Amino acid sequence: MSKADYYAVLGVNKGATDDELKKAYRKLAVKYHPDKNPGDKTAEEKFKELGEAYEVLSDPQKRAAYDQYGHAAFDARKRGFGGGGGGAGFHDPFDIFSQVFGGAGGGIFEEIFGSMRGGSRRSSNGAQRGNDMRYDLEISFEEAALGCEKELSIRKEATCSQCNGTGLAAGSSMKNCPDCGGHGQIKVGSGWISMVQTCPKCDGTGKVPERPCASCRGSGRVTQTVSVKIKIPAGVDTGTRLRSSGNGESGVRGGPAGDLYVFLHVKAHEIFERDGDDLICEIPIPFVTAALGGELQAPTLQGNKRIVIPEGTQSGTVFRLRGMGVKNVHGRGTGDMHVRVIVEVPRRLDSTQKEKLKEFAGVCKQDVNPMSQGFFERIKNWMSGNE
Ligand SMILES: [Zn+2]
Ligand SMILES: [Zn+2]
Repeated sequence: MSKADYYAVLGVNKGATDDELKKAYRKLAVKYHPDKNPGDKTAEEKFKELGEAYEVLSDPQKRAAYDQYGHAAFDARKRGFGGGGGGAGFHDPFDIFSQVFGGAGGGIFEEIFGSMRGGSRRSSNGAQRGNDMRYDLEISFEEAALGCEKELSIRKEATCSQCNGTGLAAGSSMKNCPDCGGHGQIKVGSGWISMVQTCPKCDGTGKVPERPCASCRGSGRVTQTVSVKIKIPAGVDTGTRLRSSGNGESGVRGGPAGDLYVFLHVKAHEIFERDGDDLICEIPIPFVTAALGGELQAPTLQGNKRIVIPEGTQSGTVFRLRGMGVKNVHGRGTGDMHVRVIVEVPRRLDSTQKEKLKEFAGVCKQDVNPMSQGFFERIKNWMSGNE
């Protein structure tokens, strides 16, 4: 199958100037752009062909080669480079398009097609879902662990109470949009670049209020501060995200409201630390209590709990209080409280106290210090093993 002549593709004659080429390309590329012809294979092929023709003819070297050898100029080059594939060494037609239409970032491209794409997301009556919103909320450790209810003050686009969101002044109704005559679409541009786009005045609905509501100027929404109550379940933590359905921005023209997402930040606690659903608490105990045994009132979220300290408790020993942690937010039981005791060494002793301790040391044998005993034995073994 022979390829169409590049000049014919762009509809220009052989002597066309760069300007003429560019104008011809712009006009046709907009017409056949796949965004304007969704699902149309012929248009897509045509769009590719246009890109290829323009790429060759806009480059003086390629154009000279084409003028001399026709399409064979590029077939030969392809073979010479040993490159396979059907691309024939041409660029992506979309690259060509964005180059011609001002920059890789889109530029005019977005201007032309942006509103059209936006329009397609709306339903035919112009109804639009409200935006989702984010709210960052700081709560206390206890509120997170036990759950709570909060009332949030949120500034948002809410349904206008004057017109109930219709955008109409009392007693008025909708009329045909004067800008588009009720078609919902208008022609923009002139000359080589003229195309149809969604009418911005009526957002493509073809209708505007006869007399717009004074309080929302016809938009149906006004910025308001509203209060939203949310229930925070027990067991949440920093990073938990709660969704409050329908409490985001109000929809437009009967569209549904967006959602409100509440991101939680939990403040640190004075004595508790959290590890998932478990709580950790370090409690100092006197060394006499550790040695002789005794008891301890451990604070928990459910009040004080008694812990029995057995004789000879070492520093760092952890006592577990089952079910005294945090309720799992997904309903999978309740965590534990881990109480770690830290044995305190007394200081600022007076002379009497020091005497007593020396007396005590005098009557001690090695075996009252279980850890030291083990440690020195291990050193002895290690030394003899090294000889
Ligand atoms: Zn209109
Ligand atoms: Zn209103």
